[in-house]
Amino acid sequence: MNQLYKHSQTMPDKKFINSLTYRQVYTETNKLTIKLKKYIGDNNRVAIISNNSVEFAMMLLALMNLEVETLLLNSMLKNKEIKEQIDELDISVIFSSDNRYISFKEVFGTQITEPYESDITNVHIDGNMNKYKDENYESDKVLFIMNTSATTGRFKSVPITINQITSHVQASKKSLGYCPDDNWLLVLPMFHVGGLMVLLRSLYNGTAITILEKFDEDKVIYLINNNKVNMVSMVPTMLRRIIDRIEKHNLRVMLLGGEFIEDDLINKSVKLNVSIYKSYGMTETTSQVVNFNVLDNLDKLKSVGKPMEHVDIKINTDKFLEHTKDGYPAGEITIKSSMLMKGYLNKDGLSGYFCTGDIGYFDDDGFLYILDRRSNLIISGGENIYPKEIENILYNNPHVNECAVISKRDSKWGYVPVLYIVTVLSEDNIIEYLKSQLANYKIPKEIIFRESLPKNSTGKIMKKALRSCEYEDKES
Ligand code: ATP
Ligand code: MG
Repeated sequence: MNQLYKHSQTMPDKKFINSLTYRQVYTETNKLTIKLKKYIGDNNRVAIISNNSVEFAMMLLALMNLEVETLLLNSMLKNKEIKEQIDELDISVIFSSDNRYISFKEVFGTQITEPYESDITNVHIDGNMNKYKDENYESDKVLFIMNTSATTGRFKSVPITINQITSHVQASKKSLGYCPDDNWLLVLPMFHVGGLMVLLRSLYNGTAITILEKFDEDKVIYLINNNKVNMVSMVPTMLRRIIDRIEKHNLRVMLLGGEFIEDDLINKSVKLNVSIYKSYGMTETTSQVVNFNVLDNLDKLKSVGKPMEHVDIKINTDKFLEHTKDGYPAGEITIKSSMLMKGYLNKDGLSGYFCTGDIGYFDDDGFLYILDRRSNLIISGGENIYPKEIENILYNNPHVNECAVISKRDSKWGYVPVLYIVTVLSEDNIIEYLKSQLANYKIPKEIIFRESLPKNSTGKIMKKALRSCEYEDKES
């Protein structure tokens, strides 16, 4: 990891992770690397499970030093699920922030306090560490294995190589810009690509991150309103929880993605003058591959932006084609890029363009629009219904807290939309509101009121869970 070494030499006292400087992180990481080697032996694959913390970040940096393949496990997994994943990938060494496996506490060898403070005097740096000062640190070597969010079905294991990371970091720097004083608030879990890449972008750029263990609304708002951070990555559900509390701020970038971004959020952000970068990407592409700054393109608010450098996107209409109101052909979004994985683990490699399963289209200016996932599409009496279109309209209503539209089998229409909603509105209010904006065939045929909707660890509403509890027959 020559970046860490380089920054520790050129700007040793600059802050990197919370209160730790580049020199401190470099020194501590080297100590950790040597310790980890003893646990790992000849294994070339390990797993790690933790919520966000400074220790977790240091462990990841140390594992990068060793160039082992590190599977990042979702911290919400139960032992049985962990076993399934590690057996599948033939992993026997697991590090965890608790005492279930090799504990961080044992590895660090000290009582871990938060934030991590350490004694950095008299550190002996192993001669082998020179290897990590090598400038030619660029290859097809897999450093991380990440599982997709399993929104649509079973998760898939995605290998992430050094080349994918460097390609992503360069493109990201170009589109998001760079400022030496950047301090990126890390609230997305690092076991998802959106969180991991915050750590790695900052490492490569030589800038700072502020790690919060979880998405604590009060802490996030404090850090934003008091100008303690100037960048943040979030999923829309997170922003929804804090947006009304954003006051004066110094945010240079608020990167939003991972899920469909409803118009009401963007409109509010524009009013607050927040530099939202809408983005689109996935685990398979090492996070975002499309983005744009909404304040610079107020006429494109519904799009997710333009492909970043090193990214080639084509709309494939071979298996699916629909023309939008404006006459643009919508089809499956397919991607070729140096940020794209070479193929899922234990599956065939990729050739040509990667099929994302998402439906979208480009406008004449090259801006991409996402309609929905192909698997969410509801075909009712031969008409295509995009649940996102209905949900987006509902979120424009200030009385709607959460909503999700799924499909239900129907003897007359094939499938019909069903709405799950968290709101104070009555069924009649909802129908009346929707009818004023949508064609009749798009109006949900059933409305189910809930106190909250099931979400995964990134905050995405789990339609799979809604379907499996109510309508088991529809899962494409
Ligand atoms: P799985 O593939 O296991 O079902 P997942 O697709 O949710 O899970 P991720 O890689 O975390 O796993 O998410 C990527 C997906 O999220 C994209 O393919 C797309 O469907 C959705 N997505 C990401 N950003 C956006 C966006 N800006 N607008 C709409 N959808 C988005
Ligand atoms: Mg996916």
